[in-house]
Amino acid sequence: MKVINIDKKDWAGGLEKSQDKYRLFGPVKDNKKGYSEFRELDKGKAPDMDASDSLLSPKSIAFPPSEVILEYTTDEKKEECNQMNVPEKDYSSRAVIGIRPYDAAAFLILKKNFDTSEYRDPYWCDSYEACTFVGLAANKPETTDFSTSTKSGPFDESGLDVLLVDDGKAYLAKVITDKGAAFLDAAGFNAGAGDDASDRIEKLKSKAEKAIQSTVSFDNIGKKSILELYESDLWEDIAFACINCGTCTYVCPTCWCFDIQDEASGNSGKRLKCWDSCMYPLFTVHTTGHNPRDTKVHRVRQRFMHKLKYYLDKYDDGIMCVGCGRCIRSCPVNIDIRNVCEKMNNN
Ligand code: SF4
Ligand code: SF4
Repeated sequence: MKVINIDKKDWAGGLEKSQDKYRLFGPVKDNKKGYSEFRELDKGKAPDMDASDSLLSPKSIAFPPSEVILEYTTDEKKEECNQMNVPEKDYSSRAVIGIRPYDAAAFLILKKNFDTSEYRDPYWCDSYEACTFVGLAANKPETTDFSTSTKSGPFDESGLDVLLVDDGKAYLAKVITDKGAAFLDAAGFNAGAGDDASDRIEKLKSKAEKAIQSTVSFDNIGKKSILELYESDLWEDIAFACINCGTCTYVCPTCWCFDIQDEASGNSGKRLKCWDSCMYPLFTVHTTGHNPRDTKVHRVRQRFMHKLKYYLDKYDDGIMCVGCGRCIRSCPVNIDIRNVCEKMNNN
């Protein structure tokens, strides 16, 4: 595969040039909030490439926390009166710069939910298809990173169009898809990186993978029956400290649950698609008032059974987790999915 050398002196200028054709998204450190998040970058604003391990995942680029999907008016003076209309959306090309490889791989998991043979969520799919993923390899993985256990890894190319590898004064840009080549061309990055570039990338990859100390196994989970795990007495212990805050689901790049809410004001209104969480009591409450998951044990069990058992059984493609470690770092009571997975696998 072709590898391009991008001198860091040329980085900001190239990105600005690419903005003639692309909307750019990248990590931005917010000093007031004290953490970094992925945002659209203003013209000439470079992403903070030291802040790629963002608190929130970049899933919001195709799946915003709250998105208007329909709007209406009952004002009879207006031609569109009593119609539900899709608001105008911008699905022009966008490039996601500095996304971690496992976060890009998470989009492939989300795709299984939003883009199926029976059903296509146009909002997610059109946003996703507009994206070119220009990922940054994690040369120094976080201590909570267990991505090598989840079919991903710090240099995983599966969800990317370009893999950038920080090589000191330059980025080595491995071109993975035609979309990636088109982005590099638009940015004017075209200097070949030399014959030894692939070897240098492989060495850095091997070093990064060896630095990951956390591993999880789920071989036995697939062999156990759903009922055996569902009825296990593990769940009381695992759920004991949980406060059902929902943080783990909000920071997760692979959590895909949402709610539909209608908001009306005067003679107009809108329908919104909003992130939701299986950790909230209202998530499953029926209109009768009955709630099949009315205790936190039920909800905690649902989160882990979905990620580590139901998904695995349904898709036969690993677990619904890329091992980014965000939920481990963010949980206020230190519930650790690696321990839960280990208990489900080995008890
Ligand atoms: S972040 Fe921790 S405490 Fe909050 S819902 Fe998730 S597991 Fe429970
Ligand atoms: S479950 Fe936790 S470690 Fe796995 S992808 Fe979600 S946030 Fe990352």
